Amino acid sequence: MLSVANMKRAIPAHLRRALENRDEKCVVPGCDVAQGLENDHYQIDFMSDGPTELWNLCRLCRWHHYMKTHCGYAITGGPGSWEWQAPLSEKNPVLTS
Ligand SMILES: [Zn+2]
Repeated sequence: MLSVANMKRAIPAHLRRALENRDEKCVVPGCDVAQGLENDHYQIDFMSDGPTELWNLCRLCRWHHYMKTHCGYAITGGPGSWEWQAPLSEKNPVLTS
């Protein structure tokens, strides 16, 4: 697990800058958190060998990253059309209004 966590941070500088320019805040609609954002492989999970490339990355705040990683939520769409998906078993998304 430790090596995976370390590899997740190994984003080339140019890619990190491009990502930070594109996602100035958490990409979840309605979330304005811009501090302490975490990079996420949102299309193809890192654990499934998702590539570390701009199209497969987005930035989430810690809370939304936690919910996606541990609570079954998902981020879909893409820049300009992000959608925050509640897990199928959860009919009451807490953070979308
Ligand atoms: Zn957020």
